Amino acid sequence: MDSPANDHPTDTVDSRRHRRPVRLSVTTANDFKQCPLKFRLRRIDGIQQPPTLPLVVGITVHRVLEVFLGKKPADRDFRTIPRLLEEALSHVRARPEVDQFITDTGEDTVREECLARLRQYWRTENPAALTCRSTTEMPITHDLAGGVPVTGFIDRVDDAGGKVRILDYKTGKLPKPRYRGEALFQLRFYALVYWRITGTIASQLKLLYLKPGAAGEITDTPTRQQLEDTERDIERLWAAITRAGATGEFVTRRGPLCNWCFYKDTHCPEFGHTPPAYPGWPGGQPSTQPQLTATPTDPDR
Ligand code: SF4
Repeated sequence: MDSPANDHPTDTVDSRRHRRPVRLSVTTANDFKQCPLKFRLRRIDGIQQPPTLPLVVGITVHRVLEVFLGKKPADRDFRTIPRLLEEALSHVRARPEVDQFITDTGEDTVREECLARLRQYWRTENPAALTCRSTTEMPITHDLAGGVPVTGFIDRVDDAGGKVRILDYKTGKLPKPRYRGEALFQLRFYALVYWRITGTIASQLKLLYLKPGAAGEITDTPTRQQLEDTERDIERLWAAITRAGATGEFVTRRGPLCNWCFYKDTHCPEFGHTPPAYPGWPGGQPSTQPQLTATPTDPDR
């Protein structure tokens, strides 16, 4: 994760996304809001940051929890976690760049960081009491009615007394209050797309932060109106992205979060570097006129 915003781990190190058609995810939306050039370098140019400890820990812990909670509730025994962690470490090491990073960092260091978060998870929830509808990352690729292509993954969907709860794990720390707007945006982004795909509005949204000493949760109970407002926000954001995509004018937006930006020391003109020539929008010119959804309460959508 390259900022306190806590990106989805698998959204960051996968260089196979290079030059694929652009879809809006929580990560790319937050990138553009933070700094349009950062969005461009990462999503359009496909210049991915190398693995970092938070990223590798995030991928590994997500993998362990996915397998662990995929078991029957009675079989979710914490004593199985060390074995699942070893399997997850082997799994993530299949990526050469991650394998090299773990070798350089020391597998014991990575293992301890992961175990600390898994112990924190155990203190937070009683997994044997959970009823999960989905414990594997649920893809939410969809075209919203206003023409915005969105994508992402939902870590877990629970059955909470017959109602839907959407939950996402974060291996970083609970963000300070001034960054919680991003967390709320993420939750409502997921809830909106889940609603548009399934027709069901989740009754609870939760982000679970697992960093010991800075753990906690952010929850939300979205209303239909709030999700419709989020949809309008996403449409406006997409319009700004495609306008920039058509002209190549992705401005820099220097701020405190530059200290967490990979491009600060590599490609950013604000810090003395030269970005590569704009390669153009993947697949040709973007449509710069996505339609604002005209009838947000249309029950047929
Ligand atoms: S370092 Fe440069 S590219 Fe990164 S967020 Fe700051 S201004 Fe944007």
